Parts: sequence; C-alpha cells; structure tokens
Amino acid sequence: MPSSLIIGAGMAGLAAARKLSTQGWDVVVLDKGRGVGGRLATRRIEQAKADHGAQYFSATTPELQELVQELLADKVITEWKPTQPSPADTVFKKPHYVGVEGMNAVAKALSKDLTVRTAETVISFRVEENQWLVETESGGQYRADALLITIPAPQALALIEKSGFPIVSADKSVLSAIRYQPCIAVMVALNKPSLLPAPGAVRYETSDIAWVADNAQKGISPGQPSVTIHASADFSRTHFDGDLNAIGQQLVDQLPDLIPADNISTVQVHRWRYSLTDQRHPAPFLKAEAPLSLLFGGDGFGKGNVEGAFTSGLAMAGCTANL
Ligand SMILES: Cc1cc2nc3c(=O)[nH]c(=O)nc-3n(C[C@H](O)[C@H](O)[C@H](O)COP(=O)(O)OP(=O)(O)OC[C@H]3O[C@@H](n4cnc5c(N)ncnc54)[C@H](O)[C@@H]3O)c2cc1C
Repeated sequence: MPSSLIIGAGMAGLAAARKLSTQGWDVVVLDKGRGVGGRLATRRIEQAKADHGAQYFSATTPELQELVQELLADKVITEWKPTQPSPADTVFKKPHYVGVEGMNAVAKALSKDLTVRTAETVISFRVEENQWLVETESGGQYRADALLITIPAPQALALIEKSGFPIVSADKSVLSAIRYQPCIAVMVALNKPSLLPAPGAVRYETSDIAWVADNAQKGISPGQPSVTIHASADFSRTHFDGDLNAIGQQLVDQLPDLIPADNISTVQVHRWRYSLTDQRHPAPFLKAEAPLSLLFGGDGFGKGNVEGAFTSGLAMAGCTANL
C-alpha cells in the first residue's frame, strides 16, 4: 500500500488525507497543535464558546458543496443567515456555513477515521532509503513514500531551512512570494446578550477593528453569550508584540455601543501570526523538485480561505495519487 505523510491537520491537510485514504493510501497526518483544525479554531471561555480563527466558510465548488451536504445532514454545520435578508447587506451575500458546535467541530468531523497525531511538531524531513523520513520534536520518526506539507509558506520555508533540504530556487521563490496578514483576535465572554444587530456580524472597512461577531446569535454559544473581535491587519501588525491584555481592552473599549463595559465578564486574546493571505500562488499547490513526491499546499495557494485550503488539499491528493 502506498503511504503518505501530511504535515498540518488544518482544512488542507484533512481534505488531502480524506481523499488519499479513500484511494487506498496509508495516510498519517502530523500536527503540532493539541487538537486538529489549525485556523478552524474554537475556544471555550467560562460557559461560552467563541470561534477565534475562521468565522464561517462558503462553498462554491461542487466538491465542497458535496461535503457541505454531508456535513449538513450530519448536523456538523449549519447555515448562518439573516432572518430577513437585506439587499444592502455586505456580509451575508453568499451562504455562510458554520460549525454547529463551532468551526473546530468541522475539522473534528473531517478527521474522524483518519490517523492524526497531534502535539507532533515536525522539525525536519529528508529522503532516506528511498522514503521520506520526517522527524518530530518529541523524537518521533515517520516514513512514507509521499510528503504533503500544508503549513503556511513562511513556516514551510523555515522547516526547509532547518531540514537542510536542497530546495531549487524556482520552488523557493514560489513559497517566498506567499504572504500572510497577522490578526489579533479578542474573545469576550458576556454577562448578557451583546447589542450586535441580527444576525450578529459587523464588518468594518476602516478601523482598528475588522470584524465583530456574536457567537450566541451565530448559534455556537447557547450557554453564555460571547463575541469575537478581529483587529484589522494594520492594527495587528503595529501591536503584535504588545501587551495582550492591554490590547484586548483597547479593542473592546472601541465598541461601547455593542459591548458596554458592564456586560463584560472575561476577555481573552489570541495572536495569529498567519491569518488571511495578502499574496497567494495562483495554482492550488506546488510540486517541488525532489527525488520523491513532495507537495506544498494550503491556503497560500488558490483562494486564500477555508474553501481555498480545501481545494488545495484535494488537488494535492489528486496529484499524489496519480504518481
Ligand atoms: C482570524 C482569522 C479569520 C479568518 N476568517 C476566515 C473566514 O471567515 N472564512 C474563511 O474561509 N477563512 C477565514 N480564515 C482563513 C482560514 O482559517 C484559512 O484559510 C484556513 O483555515 C487555512 O487552512 P490550512 O489547512 O491551509 O492551514 P491551517 O489551518 O493553518 O493548518 C496548518 C496546520 O499546520 C500545523 N503546523 C504548522 N507547523 C507545523 C509543524 N512544524 N509541525 C506540525 N504541524 C504544524 C498547524 O498547527 C495547523 O494546524 C481566517 C483565518 C484567521 C486566522
């Protein structure tokens, strides 16, 4: 049975793993996180839940629409939509799918039946005895015929360098050209419902804040209301290394009409060094020049969102299976 190792259990890695598994490949996915999902991330604060990475996803390709139908039927996802659609609405122009239990639940559902090793940080890869040999921080060693790397391109370049892998300059240029914005995400557990208008999302074009969402209206936090605030890329860049508590408070203080001070119970802040992409490679993946099959993919390739990561993962699996 041909074997593959996938680095990264985000949407791209899980999509690739599912497809290769159905095609008879032995697949192992490695992720440094405590759980699966990467930027499909949901956190519990007090009795509340908050999505602090991707807020929703859309599905325009037949492949993702097929998965959407499966996940809707299994009640893993639902559509987040206004009860009264408005022509002026700029946020909900196309269907927004969200995990019923939060976005991370989508990743959990996709990883069912897959072999995923979490808390495994990959520190190097090389070819040995005609197979890829991947080593992890914990001392783990994994071997496979094909290697699929779905981590953000800057992290992939760091891994390549650490591994001493002789990447050709054309491949290095592709990876180096992919750029990400940082994002500071603030999660606020509330004492009572927020004052966000239904259906609970506001996008700002020019402000320190890019996005605010009400996780209770979204349906993922029935036990206690909460909101998620995403700082703008400019604000996040300027304050990335600052004091997290102070930054969280600074952002919350800018929304007194939506989240009055007396409604705040707990504030938590998360720093995403790689959130949405600024610059992407147009093709869905990169097939690197290497003695054995080596592909790079993820949301730095194609559309730059959850759907783009899914499409990249599927395309990587298709290429691997055809080798
Ligand atoms: C704040 C924010 C808001 C967003 N909003 C939206 C949105 O509303 N809609 C949308 O469609 N998209 C949104 N996105 C983008 C979306 O989350 C991503 O495009 C998508 O989830 C990327 O999936 P991926 O598999 O390419 O990467 P990731 O999800 O980043 O997965 C990569 C995985 O690799 C792992 N990893 C990294 N290095 C190593 C290593 N050395 N060893 C082992 N594992 C490693 C990481 O732990 C991670 O799990 C948002 C992202 C952020 C951060």
